[in-house]
Amino acid sequence: MSRQVTLMPSLLEHIAFSGLLALPLSKKPKWILGLCWVAAIPDLDIFLGLHRAAFHSLITLLPVCTVLVITAHYLRPTFFAPALFVSFCLLSHTLFDFLGGFVAILWPLIPASFQLNIYILIVNTGTGLIPQLVIEPFIAPLTEVTAPSTGLLLAPFDVVFSLIFLTLTINKAWPNLWSSLRSRLRSPT
Ligand SMILES: [Zn+2]
Repeated sequence: MSRQVTLMPSLLEHIAFSGLLALPLSKKPKWILGLCWVAAIPDLDIFLGLHRAAFHSLITLLPVCTVLVITAHYLRPTFFAPALFVSFCLLSHTLFDFLGGFVAILWPLIPASFQLNIYILIVNTGTGLIPQLVIEPFIAPLTEVTAPSTGLLLAPFDVVFSLIFLTLTINKAWPNLWSSLRSRLRSPT
């Protein structure tokens, strides 16, 4: 029997998730701090009454990201890495929503919503426990896409997750910040 898992990542989770994934690859993490909020933009389609469709669809996002990256590459090479990161934030939002919730990834070309659940199921065979990778695709009419909310902005997990993201990013962007703060506190002028 299949089990449908519903995951509603919050805005903070989207922002921290994108930033944390990009952090190991970034040489200038100040961009990450300045641009990570872009990962929340797709959820603005809730105001159009087309949540998880208009700004989550690959038909919308892929051309925007392609133009952004190509324009930066040819016209402003210094903005190439930030443009890549912005594109990553937008596309990772859709991916994160898609893995556990319905997203109209091909709207308006295909007015239906898709979901992909991937998880490990521990099966008891009687003689032992065997882990099994389960991949479950779901499809639903666009009208059934629910948009109850994007989760609580200040759920405890979100706060901890965001603090980890901020600490790691600040630490990488300004590696001497903590030691200089400590030395200033020790010897106030
Ligand atoms: Zn979303």
